[in-house]
Amino acid sequence: MSTMMEISQVKIGHSDVSFFPIGVGANAVGGHNLYPNLDENNGKALIRAAIRKGVQLLDTAFIYGNGRSETLIGEVIKEFNRYDVVIATKAAHRYVNNQIVLDNSPSFLKTSVDDALKRLQTDYIDIFYIHFPDNHTAKDEAVAALQELKQMGKIRAIGVSNFSLAQLQQANKQGWVDVVQDEYNLLHRQNEHQLFPYCVEQGISFIPYFPLASGLLTGKYHADVTFPKGDLRNEQANFKGQKLNATLIKVAKLLDIAKKYHVEITHIVLAWYLTRPEITALIPGAKTANQVEDNLRTLSFRLSENDINFIDQLFR
Ligand code: NAP
Repeated sequence: MSTMMEISQVKIGHSDVSFFPIGVGANAVGGHNLYPNLDENNGKALIRAAIRKGVQLLDTAFIYGNGRSETLIGEVIKEFNRYDVVIATKAAHRYVNNQIVLDNSPSFLKTSVDDALKRLQTDYIDIFYIHFPDNHTAKDEAVAALQELKQMGKIRAIGVSNFSLAQLQQANKQGWVDVVQDEYNLLHRQNEHQLFPYCVEQGISFIPYFPLASGLLTGKYHADVTFPKGDLRNEQANFKGQKLNATLIKVAKLLDIAKKYHVEITHIVLAWYLTRPEITALIPGAKTANQVEDNLRTLSFRLSENDINFIDQLFR
């Protein structure tokens, strides 16, 4: 099996931030508002295991536990060389009278970066994303604030997330956006027509979220799957009725391909994304250190053209 060290690094947009293409999505590290019964020590252990295995990109956000995910990651990275990790975090959620409002104003983004730096116990953030667009801030003004922070060395790359194409175009008026994070997976391919062409044309990196469709594309779930109370997947259409059944039939067809490469369906799915030139890196979410390690097997083989095309057609 290849190790991370044999894999080339990828570079983010126009920045000098580079890392190995499989990172870890950390919304289950301290993300108590997203998943029930999370064990924080387990969350810290999976980040530790990831870094020990050579994973560099750690993807977090303020809203994952209202700062808790960033705090736990900050505690773990102190045990390592700061330069060995690449921290991506996001903000846009502001609490007003216990209600969340979205805010992309320059002053809120600047405060958010300073607050995140404290929680992460570091003096720079490698990638800072505007997590969601608000309805009132001009997106080029929001990005101009981030560009100031980049020049000050507080952040190294500018990202936006959950932006429409029109919002991205406005955000990138000066060519300052380095990376976009948006939903993309084999069940949700709209961005092939929406954001991908613009990102490629502008030299903007793309990092998909929900690459495993919240675990559905691992092949481990069945038609009668249920989740604990409080797990957001109870509400997701992908995990219900006919839609779920249709996906399970397709996912089962990946099993023969997986056997051929001596890996699991998860790795076939993740490897397929990395064959797409528009996709820079992956941040599969993990709940355990084992899942982090397991996902690295994605880098141990190369899909044939026939298999790439078969998967493409199967999920059209
Ligand atoms: P995901 O990557 O599609 O699915 C992750 C889930 O799949 C895990 O929590 C785990 O859940 C299961 N899994 C992962 N590796 C596995 C393995 N090797 N074997 C078996 N099961 C495995 O979904 P996600 O975690 O929500 O999204 C990825 C990351 O994207 C997040 O962590 C977050 O950093 C980011 N994100 C960003 C946004 C945004 O608005 N920008 C939105 C959502 C997510 P189970 O074990 O419970 O099945």
